[in-house]
Amino acid sequence: MRIDIITVLPRLLDSPFSHSILKRAQDKGLVEVVVHDLRDYSTNKQKSVDDYAYGGGAGMVLQIEPVSRCIEHLRAQRTYNETIYMSPDGETLSQGMANELSLKQNLLILCGHYKGVDERVRQHFISREISIGDYVLSGGELAAAVLADSIIRLLPGVLNDETSALSDSFQDGLLAPPVYSRPADFRGWKVPEVLLSGHEGKIEAWRHQQAVERTQQRRPDLFGEGAESGGTKPGSTES
Ligand code: SAH
Repeated sequence: MRIDIITVLPRLLDSPFSHSILKRAQDKGLVEVVVHDLRDYSTNKQKSVDDYAYGGGAGMVLQIEPVSRCIEHLRAQRTYNETIYMSPDGETLSQGMANELSLKQNLLILCGHYKGVDERVRQHFISREISIGDYVLSGGELAAAVLADSIIRLLPGVLNDETSALSDSFQDGLLAPPVYSRPADFRGWKVPEVLLSGHEGKIEAWRHQQAVERTQQRRPDLFGEGAESGGTKPGSTES
């Protein structure tokens, strides 16, 4: 898989992709993440990419010219399955959406800034708009990193058995059960006996029951009619 990200602040995306699981995924060649500086597609001396909003009001708007130039430059090199704009008014990111996007080959993500991007970019270049939640960030970079992380960890080979994505919250429509590690007794706070029993069947049943209880307590909506489950199976043989 390849993920291209267009931003006015490329440095903001350095860290999220330079550590741990996301770095290893790239080192293993399972995903290629390429960040593009929108200012490289500006044609003026100041390398500016934003201007005042027509009709007035506070806040600058990312202009269609540099954005279209960048998108068209990238599209001339490969076909993108989706061109995504990170936006608080987009579809809210879910595990099902991450699963679905993890099956794609090439994704292009545009990060907004300031007041957002010229509406004509959204109308003519964007295939999908995604929000990471009902709050407003200063820019799309952190949202793009969240989206990319949720997708990349699902690619086959990225996680090892110990961190398998299939047992994570939402994947089967349930929250994950509680987990424990050594010591078995800390200040008298004991690990549930069943987990020390070595009995796989009992442990599995306990975990399932805990997952169901936790979901009932914290997210009863996940049991509701039409509640979204994990949806599409994560990962595929594409890369
Ligand atoms: N004026 C816009 C917000 C602009 S915030 C509005 O009210 O809808 C600047 C940029 O940050 C946006 O263009 C978007 O790319 C990004 N952003 C902010 N909040 C986000 C969220 N919840 N999910 C995804 N991207 C977000």
